[in-house]
Amino acid sequence: MDEDKKNILIIEDEQSIAELERDYLEISGFSVDIASDGDTGLQKALEGDYALIILDLMLPGKDGFQVCKEVREMKDIPIIIVSARKDDIDKIRGLGLGADDYVTKPFSASEMVARVKAHMARYARLVGSGREESGVIEIHGLKIDPSARRVFVNGEERTFTTKEFDLLYFLASHPNHVYTKAELFKEIWKMDSVGDIATVTVHIKKIREKIEMDSAKPQYIETIWGVGYRFKV
Ligand code: CA
Repeated sequence: MDEDKKNILIIEDEQSIAELERDYLEISGFSVDIASDGDTGLQKALEGDYALIILDLMLPGKDGFQVCKEVREMKDIPIIIVSARKDDIDKIRGLGLGADDYVTKPFSASEMVARVKAHMARYARLVGSGREESGVIEIHGLKIDPSARRVFVNGEERTFTTKEFDLLYFLASHPNHVYTKAELFKEIWKMDSVGDIATVTVHIKKIREKIEMDSAKPQYIETIWGVGYRFKV
């Protein structure tokens, strides 16, 4: 990603809202594209070079749920979901579609800009310093070196079993993507999940004990209730 060029895509069918967001973001130094339906928005999101997407849920054409899912399959960039209905926000959380933030309408444009900046800064830290050519991931004091298979927390090495390491590295390599336990089991244990997904829970618990300050309030691996886990950035 070119860090100088911070393009934001707004997918929003209410023109007045889209323009208000655009004006505030442009004043803050971003360049902004607007798509007013889901299909155009998805196409732009997949083809364009955007640093962040602001996505309305109720859209003509493909709705925001579908757009979020399809973008997330291809890209890690932050997605801020906007909705008029609190219910929809709960629904999208429940679906684990991998949105980074949720804003209910009406919202203040300056608050939106603040959230945009916060998410872009987090993402830039991840892709800028976080991923080196060696595949080393370094984020918030956690360093994972895949070639040496070593993990450091604030410079202190922690010992990992093979599967714990594979699971942590897999999650950290796909930040913000929510995986079900079955998907993780299949990915790491290379077998179809047949009731053995409790293994995933056990491994997540062990990983948290090693990397989290407080494993009851995890800052790296978040539990998405009823869905699975994601590595937060
Ligand atoms: Ca709408």
